Amino acid sequence: MVSFDQAVAVVTGGGSGIGRTTAMEFADRGTSVVVADVDVTGGEETVSEITDDGGEALFVETDVTNTDETQAMVDAAVDEYGRLDYAFNNAGIGGEQTPITDYPAAEWQHVIDVNLVGVFNCMQAEIRRLQKQDSGGVIVNNSSVLGKVGFETSSGYAAAKHGVLGLTKTAALENGETGVRVNAVCPGFIETPLLTEGGINDPEMREGIEQRHAMNRLGTPAEVANAVLWLCDDDASFVTGEALGVEGGYLSQ
Ligand code: NAP
Repeated sequence: MVSFDQAVAVVTGGGSGIGRTTAMEFADRGTSVVVADVDVTGGEETVSEITDDGGEALFVETDVTNTDETQAMVDAAVDEYGRLDYAFNNAGIGGEQTPITDYPAAEWQHVIDVNLVGVFNCMQAEIRRLQKQDSGGVIVNNSSVLGKVGFETSSGYAAAKHGVLGLTKTAALENGETGVRVNAVCPGFIETPLLTEGGINDPEMREGIEQRHAMNRLGTPAEVANAVLWLCDDDASFVTGEALGVEGGYLSQ
């Protein structure tokens, strides 16, 4: 692998929350970053924050459910920076919170399309590119603790996040000898706009969610970004197919 300061990363959902913080962490280490998001304003803000700090970044408007756009995202990295080394497939939505019996079919499809099919679309374009490079590369997918256990009222989300782990393990097997490592992070509940929109500002709900973690608090985007960067680092050179918990003890009970 090349060093972080010679490398190029793609971060989907880079316009907000965990994606923005991870894009900025890559840039802090000298990595050139392609920030991909459906949210143009948020994506451009991330790029401005990086370039104002002296880093290198480019925004590419990308809907991960669209294969032409995920291919264009990878092409932009190669056209602008000449290569691709790391991809953080992070774009995602919370979806409606409703029991299965009342879960609207269209909402189910939308959550699966963004959170699962979107990761597949990105991986396909990224891995095709990485396999062409002698230096290989690293993919990190953003799953969730809800990729390992269920959560009442979040069937679409939990199903998609479990699926992301299946995709991660399969791609790791297919690439064991290509020099491309494929891993996932499984965050607990992290303080981001996704949670705010899910109602976390309600004090009772917040306390209930915090108590599900042994550390009795929410995580920060930086705590997830640190795990993503570690998985990309050569320090993790024998780590592939892993679903790394970043979850404050959520699953230890
Ligand atoms: P966030 O702040 O809402 O950021 C997600 C970003 O992805 C937003 O900019 C969003 O744009 C964008 N996005 C949505 N649909 C997209 C699409 N089709 N194509 C490209 N970009 C799209 O959320 P976050 O909390 O940082 O979440 C990032 C990832 O972490 C998600 O996959 C989420 O499931 C996962 N995660 C989050 C938590 C948590 O507690 N926050 C825990 C575990 C895992 P819009 O705002 O316009 O929708």
